[in-house]
Amino acid sequence: MTPATDRPSPTNAQSFADAQSLLPGGVNSPVRAFRAVGGAPPFIARAQGPYLWDLEGRKYIDYVGSWGAAILGHAHPAVVQALQSAAALGLSFGAPTAAETELARRITHLMPAVEMVRLCNSGTEAAMTALRLARAFTRRPKLIKFAGCYHGHADPFLVQAGSGATTLGTPTSPGIPPAVAADTLVAQFNNLDSVQSLFAQHPGRIAALIVEPVVGNAGVIPPADGFLAGLRQLTAQAGALLIFDEVITGFRLAPGGAQQLYGLAPDLTALGKIIGGGLPVGAVAGRRNIMQLLAPAGPVYQAGTLSGNPLAVAAGLATLDQLTPHTYELLERRAAQLEAGFRHHLQRRRLPWQFQRLGSLATLFFTDRPVRNYADALTCDTRAFARYFHAMLAAGIYLPPSQFEAFFLSAAHSDDDLARTLQAVSHALSHAAPSRP
Ligand code: PMP
Repeated sequence: MTPATDRPSPTNAQSFADAQSLLPGGVNSPVRAFRAVGGAPPFIARAQGPYLWDLEGRKYIDYVGSWGAAILGHAHPAVVQALQSAAALGLSFGAPTAAETELARRITHLMPAVEMVRLCNSGTEAAMTALRLARAFTRRPKLIKFAGCYHGHADPFLVQAGSGATTLGTPTSPGIPPAVAADTLVAQFNNLDSVQSLFAQHPGRIAALIVEPVVGNAGVIPPADGFLAGLRQLTAQAGALLIFDEVITGFRLAPGGAQQLYGLAPDLTALGKIIGGGLPVGAVAGRRNIMQLLAPAGPVYQAGTLSGNPLAVAAGLATLDQLTPHTYELLERRAAQLEAGFRHHLQRRRLPWQFQRLGSLATLFFTDRPVRNYADALTCDTRAFARYFHAMLAAGIYLPPSQFEAFFLSAAHSDDDLARTLQAVSHALSHAAPSRP
């Protein structure tokens, strides 16, 4: 038998073929499979700072950053150190630890609308629990969400969801009982009339409205002036709860997330990604009188064997420790620099485009209309995107493999990384010529 060390390393293509025999589609989360852009995904061997290396040894500048979790870049020394110290003390207890209270305290300090926190293991669980709480609190059944917003893969949210659900062409997944989907009402982002009319059609029946305050999962769509304040007003008038899904925006757009940026107080907030520092974490957080309904304080059941896991909490605390006002200034400055570079190259090309950015989140949409909602996003030339994406990948730039995603800048991207990225952009745009007549 050949010793393991003498075996030639498999290629990305071989690893993908192998994975497909054991993992549906070869992956454990759909967007990773590159279905929207074609080809085999690089299989990642390691990551450090803003870089990924695949198992063929190729290096990429990474703009996915574990879909936003890696705001400090990968394997930040302080986070790795915190993890090593925590690991030495035990990996999981299924019993309370003081660090969980500390993480909750930090979150309440950063987000004044948050008085209590329940940690869980993913953004999906966070959103799912927020909805259950809202239904219990209001004793109403229905939910309003926005077309193109993604809130994880729990049944009630997989109705006109963005992200991977868009590119798979299954906005409503099979396997969801029609009765569950019927309680999900869909409004249009940046359109308060669409929200108002749902409240008018279902008086006293709507438990909550959930929104990505800045959409990331249809590509980046900032809220129009007054839109979020309008949602706060309409929900309050209707006696429904306002849930901000800040799984992406929390601790990224500002220390206190989009709710700080726009000066609004949602009733509940769903969190994830950054507060786990790269380990699996989610949190539902909000007003004390709602949160107190959760078991064992109240009757609404929610639980988790690994919830508040000591490693995940240690990584989250260490990550939050590193996020200073300077980090946000740096992210804004670098992101603005990147945007200016993109615009410079785009202006020289005969391509329909919109570059939409808020802080360290951005999307280059291949469409000629400003993207204010999901319908606008769907006008994009996804084949042009795929060509641009592959040209960037070949140049060593790892972008989200779908038109309908944000790219994530980290505090580890240097001026030199940005310059190399923009060089690649200039070249890649020449590959992305319009595919429509
Ligand atoms: N909400 C939003 C806004 C998200 O972007 C995501 C994941 N990208 C989720 C919820 C679900 O989080 P998770 O993948 O951790 O379940």
